[in-house]
Amino acid sequence: GWLAVFFLEMLLYAVGTAFIVLVLTKERTLRMHKTAALTDPLTGLFNRRGLIEAARDMAERNARKLGKPVAVLAFDLDHFKSINNRFGHAVGDDVLKLFASIANTSLRLTDFVARYGGEEFAAIMPGTLEEGMVVAERVRAAFETAARTVSGRYLAATVSVGVAAHPTAANIDALLARADTALYVAKANGRNRVESEYAAVDTERAAAILAAA
Ligand code: GH3
Ligand code: MG
Ligand code: MG
Repeated sequence: GWLAVFFLEMLLYAVGTAFIVLVLTKERTLRMHKTAALTDPLTGLFNRRGLIEAARDMAERNARKLGKPVAVLAFDLDHFKSINNRFGHAVGDDVLKLFASIANTSLRLTDFVARYGGEEFAAIMPGTLEEGMVVAERVRAAFETAARTVSGRYLAATVSVGVAAHPTAANIDALLARADTALYVAKANGRNRVESEYAAVDTERAAAILAAA
């Protein structure tokens, strides 16, 4: 009698353990696939999809603490094609990785940064336009210093930044588009600079840059 109960218990235990292992493995595989789908392999940052999902999470959390503003930062490395042309694609990749690590260390844990396209990055953070501008300037300055020489070569790589903000995290796509518009203004006004969504193109400066090019 006791022996039968003992063996039955052993059997149930073995089946149960196998089942749990199976479920955990499946969940881990799913999570790994999900992580791979949401991250950029070169930099380890979120990709575009990862950022949109992170932004949705942030919006949900912010919905519970009403009135929390969100700032979006759009980054684009300056004259990146020329860096590739002069130093090669591998050095270009090193510059992308360097920017990713600078952006990561300059941002807070509550912020998200993603590689959006080739040499385009975006960050989302809780905060006002002014707070976004401060963070953007911190990243821009840190990158200018760190990217002066990369892999032993004098590159003087820089980044331009556009910043937009909204009282709530309602529409991230619209915010990203507005940050992008500000980024174009930063490019037109001479690159290696930060502009907010309310900045205007300095036409005199833009004309001088065009004439010098
Ligand atoms: P601007 O200052 O106006 O932004 O000029 P730019 O040269 O940076 O802009 P453009 O968009 O013309 O060039 C982007 C370059 O980025 C072109 C492409 O070869 C390079 N690029 C895109 N993805 C990668 C990548 O994964 N690795 C490397 N090394 N280069 C990349
Ligand atoms: Mg670009
Ligand atoms: Mg560029």
